[in-house]
Amino acid sequence: MDAPVSERNRRMMETIEQRIEVLKRERNAIVIAHNYEPDEVQALADFTGDSLELSRKAAALEEETVVFCGVRFMAETAAILAPEKTVLLPDRHAGCPMADMISPEDVRELKAKHPGAAAVCYVNSSAAVKAECDLCCTSSNAAKIVASIPAEREVIFVPDTHLGHHVRSLLDREMVIWDGYCPTHSRIREADVLREKAAHPEAVVMAHPECPEPIRRLADELLSTGQMCAFAKASSAREFVVATERGILYRLRNENPDKRFYSPTARAVCPNMKKIDAEKVLWALEDLKYRVTVPEEIAVRARKAIEAMLALS
Ligand code: SF4
Repeated sequence: MDAPVSERNRRMMETIEQRIEVLKRERNAIVIAHNYEPDEVQALADFTGDSLELSRKAAALEEETVVFCGVRFMAETAAILAPEKTVLLPDRHAGCPMADMISPEDVRELKAKHPGAAAVCYVNSSAAVKAECDLCCTSSNAAKIVASIPAEREVIFVPDTHLGHHVRSLLDREMVIWDGYCPTHSRIREADVLREKAAHPEAVVMAHPECPEPIRRLADELLSTGQMCAFAKASSAREFVVATERGILYRLRNENPDKRFYSPTARAVCPNMKKIDAEKVLWALEDLKYRVTVPEEIAVRARKAIEAMLALS
């Protein structure tokens, strides 16, 4: 008699994971994944983290091949920091709409309008945009990076308006802020968070700074996904409302089996972060695809902005 479907799926996944393990050894490869990736991808990854954690990891890699489970700008950052490595993005269409909301020409125009200003780009931007900027930042270090710029110098912040405004209010500092945004975080509504708060009155509300202002206002803690993991582990609270992309729930629940985590809405799903699955990781290792490279002329300038961030964080 045939095995039930769930049993067949489990056996198939085992086979995929086993083949991935063999190919990792043969290719001297590592699989790293962002906290928003699907559960099955996070489960097979050697390392999961937020953008800053993944950037640091990429800068210190020993393996020759990196399978980067995330979106294109993240794989580009790894390729910039580790140019001698083969960086693979298992789905070449995994992009980021926020990163696409600004071009290098837009940054050059802003700089022409604000001569002498320091240009800071959120890591969620293309390599070409980073190349036009002085400093890169992530959601976990954005305030620290902007605070490192002398108070008398004007600051341009691109592309995330919500992170920009969060930093502006933290530092009480005027900034020229681009109006890009993350469509996934923008789908989280005030009513969603209020409903979860009412259902779980003891819960701590953790929100990502990419959330719109009404959500940031409702949050007890504004944190990157890496900071959310650290906070949930250290906190004496037992329940958390998590206002960010739902993929983070996998890591939070795994690391804290005795605590409860609630997402305010099923809409908080980034379609680009869900483009990679275990099979695509396998194909990436089998065929060494899709290799992400950054032209040297862009990489040299973008690396300066990223390394300036890493030195400060
Ligand atoms: S969650 Fe938002 S910022 Fe992150 S990759 Fe998806 S669209 Fe881009």
